[in-house]
This record gives sequence, structure tokens and C-alpha cells, in this order.
Amino acid sequence: FCHETRTFHSLRPAAPPPDENLPLSAAVYALSLIPSPFPSNSALIDAATGAAISYPEFVSRVRTLAASLRFRAGLSKGDVAFVLSPTRLDVPLLYFALLSLGVVISPANPLSTAGEISHQIRLSKPSVAFATAATADKLPRDLPIILLDSPRFRAFLSAAAPAALPPPEVSQSDTAAILYSSGTTGRVKGVVLTHRNFVALIAGYRAAQEAAEAPPEGPAVALFTIPLFHVFGFFMALRAVALGETTVLMERFEFGAMLRAVERYRVTYIPVSPPLVVAMAKSDEVARYDLSSLRLVACGGAPLGREVAERFTARFPNIEIIQGYGLTESTGGAAGTTGPDESRKYGSAGRISANVEAKIVDPTTGEALPPGSEGELWLRGPTIMKGYIGDAEATASTLDSEGWLKTGDLCYFDEDGFVFVVDRLKELIKYKAYQVPPAELEHVLHSHPEIADAAVIPFPDEEAGQIPMAFIVRQPGSSVSEQQVMDFVAKQVAPYKKVRRVAFVSSIPKSAAGKILRRELIDHVSTIPASKL
Ligand code: AMP
Repeated sequence: FCHETRTFHSLRPAAPPPDENLPLSAAVYALSLIPSPFPSNSALIDAATGAAISYPEFVSRVRTLAASLRFRAGLSKGDVAFVLSPTRLDVPLLYFALLSLGVVISPANPLSTAGEISHQIRLSKPSVAFATAATADKLPRDLPIILLDSPRFRAFLSAAAPAALPPPEVSQSDTAAILYSSGTTGRVKGVVLTHRNFVALIAGYRAAQEAAEAPPEGPAVALFTIPLFHVFGFFMALRAVALGETTVLMERFEFGAMLRAVERYRVTYIPVSPPLVVAMAKSDEVARYDLSSLRLVACGGAPLGREVAERFTARFPNIEIIQGYGLTESTGGAAGTTGPDESRKYGSAGRISANVEAKIVDPTTGEALPPGSEGELWLRGPTIMKGYIGDAEATASTLDSEGWLKTGDLCYFDEDGFVFVVDRLKELIKYKAYQVPPAELEHVLHSHPEIADAAVIPFPDEEAGQIPMAFIVRQPGSSVSEQQVMDFVAKQVAPYKKVRRVAFVSSIPKSAAGKILRRELIDHVSTIPASKL
């Protein structure tokens, strides 16, 4: 902590990223870090079928696919490709190929509804979409689609590479990806992440790997339960390749299948969101599998309660829970724990990552605060997004003129540099670590003819972390029911965004400017005894 500037600096090994003026795509950078000679472990494994891709194969398929996309599909630098696919082996190959061409990747949740997708497409303006037979019909008719499960795409992956042309020059300041997040308020926005953002993030992980002792069991084997369209899965896919690890992918998440995959592929770590830690701590099924290879569970995306962490550790004393904290707007990975001593600090989200600076700011006075004080966490560094696409106003209220990102999270640092996330100041609800923007659900609710007014807040839930709860003011004479309200919303949004609790009220508390006072509703709900809920 620097008293003069009231800024927290990273305690991690220095990890200066390559010169920012050097033309370099995130893909080329990650590929250049793969240990040489190539690791003998697989790069990718499909958990269900056991199909595996070795490192030499991975690199050559990425090159072939990039050439096919360039010369057969006509994609070039600056184009935007929308990706709507469940997890499958093709996705990391596609990401690397598109990034190496300088084509901007915009991945979305395949569970999204056609309405949600059209909003995202209006933001990112793709010229092509990659989908599967199961997801394609949710895309607009006029968008050219390449199906990942088609003979055409298979041919792209195996085509004889055309005469080598020099790869396009990708600047680190070029956009690499547009990911979707509602940020601190309002509807979903497109987060612009640059190649530089990913290069700097990967440089940090690389430095950490070099500083750590090599594990005696050999390279790590990661099982991804996290989705590849979310920043967590997106950057982990790049990171795993750069570090020469094996990534085991599951197309459809199922708890038993996950345990089976751990046993079958001798998985050493699983990136997860908190609900999975809860599930593992409670499940009887875990006893049926040999999980002895598992050393780490890397948990991020939402807060992990101290009790859950303790329950998990009592049950699995040999598995360390690494905590991670980040946002889509910080390219993920802004803080975390490393090593058993740090990880045992349950309740903390760890120490800030390499290349990241932090401040704790009093949300009312704007003053930076010392360790021990609660305030909004601000982050700065080369992993912070460029802004929200086409939304100068939202960008200006999230990034200040000195490059600080206002996270919307209420946090404090202790004297040892550990950050604790106390609460969320922003509007966001996280259902199983998935983003649910209340403003979007309120918009849907307002379109119901029998609803006069509505407000949505997070309601605590042990399994999901939070569930969306709606406060409804009925139109005079209406007797619309709780179930009818829930069904109405469920038809229009992805399943994880469903309203799962409804209360009828006579009015919604608002500020003089007409802004919903969500905090009042949240505080009101927290005072109701559990037996009355
Ligand atoms: P997303 O952009 O979907 O990654 O959401 C970012 C938000 O998730 C953060 O601003 C936090 O509110 C929350 N979050 C992520 N990781 C953690 C964590 N380890 N502890 C508490 N909240 C977290």
C-alpha cells in the first residue's frame, strides 16, 4: 500500500508484458509460450468421448483453420464473429484461429433466447456467426452462419493449408473480443477487450508458473465446468495452452459425469463457480469415485462463503480451494490466492494479480481509503477493458480519466494485502455466477399489461448464491398471480434469468429522480424472519 497515492500494488512476481507497440495477437503470444519441445500431454480432451488433441496437432489445426477461415470463408482482420455454441473441442481451436487473424470474437451463452441474442448482435454487429445445429435457429436470418458440426467446418479443420501468406499484422491495441456484461447498471453491454488485455493477463500467469515449483506429477490437467463464452472460461482456455496444460472439456455439465471425468483423466484442478463447491461439499456421490488426482479447485465468479469453504476442506483435506476474483471488464483474474497459506484465508478473494493496481474509494466522497476501510474497489492496469462498445456514456461512468475501473463491488483490504468482497453496490444479480441484470427483467415485467410497476432484486439462496426476486405493483383490478408473473418472464429470458420469487406491493420505492431504490427493498427483505418468507 502506498500511503501517498493510497494505492494498493500487486505483491506477485513482476510480470511485465511484451512491449505494447510490438504487433502481437493474444493467440500468437499464447502459442509462443507453449513449452518447447511440445508437451507430451494432450492439449484438449473431450470428456465424453475421450477424443484427444495433442499439442503439435493443436498448433497445426489452428493454423489450418485460420487459413480456411481467411481464404475459404473470407474472414479478415476487424470482422466480428458471433459464437453461439455449447462447450466443444472446436471452440478453443476457433478462438485461437480467429484471434490469430485479428477477427473479433463475440461469444454468447447458447441458452440465450432469440430476443437476448438480437440485442447482443445489435451491439457487436457481427458479419458471421459460428453456431451448432442446435443453436443456429436462434440467430437472425440475415446473418451468415458456419455450423461447427457440419462437414464444411470439418473440411476447414483438415484442408491442405493454402500457400502460406504472412499472417495479418495484429496490433495489441486491436479488439480481440466483445463479451457481454451489464456492468454496474442497466441492460447488457458489449465489453471490448483488446489483445493487449489478454497478453498482459497471460504474462502474469506465465510469471507465476515460472516462480512456482513444477508439480511432481507433471503438467496440470484441468477440467472445465465453466462456460467458454464467459470471461472465466475464455481466458482460462488461452492460459491453459500457454502453460502447456491439458484441458478436459465437458459439452454438457452433469455432476456425476464430472466426477467420472476426474477419475478417468486424472484431473488435477477444476475451475468452478461457488455452487459446485457447495455441491461437492454436500454430495454423497463423491465417495464413489477416485478423486485422488485432484489437488486444486479454483473458485471464482461469485462470493464463496467461509462456511462452505470450511465444509469443503473438512471433507477434502488434500484439495486446496484457490479463490479468484474478477470481472468481464477486467479480463477476469484481478485478484486471487496462490499456495495453501493464502488459500486458507477463507472469505478473502485473495491478493491483487500481477500488473493490477487497486484503490478502495469512498463511494460518496470519492476519497481513496487506507487498509481496513470499506469502499468501492477500483482497478487499473493493462487488463482493464477498453470500454463498452457504442456506449460512451456507460464507458465514461465506469472508467475514469486516469484509467480506473469502478467495479461496483464493496470491498476492503486487510494489512496483508488480501481483498475481501463485502457486498455488491451495483445492480447485478449473480445466479450460480451467471449475470442477471435486474433492469432487463424489469423491462420484461413492464411489458405485462397487468403490471403497473416492478422492481427486481437479488434474494439470498444457499445453492445458487442469489435468485432474482420481483416486487410487483398490480394494475387496478388485476389479480395476476405469482405463478403467472414467473411464467410470463420465463418465456422471454434464458432459464438462469427466471424470476424465482414474487412479492406484491402497493408501490416501488423511488428516488426523487425516479430511480428504483433497490437497496431499500434488499434491506427490507433482509429484516423479514426466515419463517415468514
Ligand atoms: P462477471 O463480469 O460476470 O465476471 O461478474 C463480475 C462480478 O462478479 C464482480 O464484480 C463481483 O460482483 C462478482 N464476483 C466475481 N468473483 C467474485 C468473488 N471471488 N467474490 C465475490 N464476488 C465475485
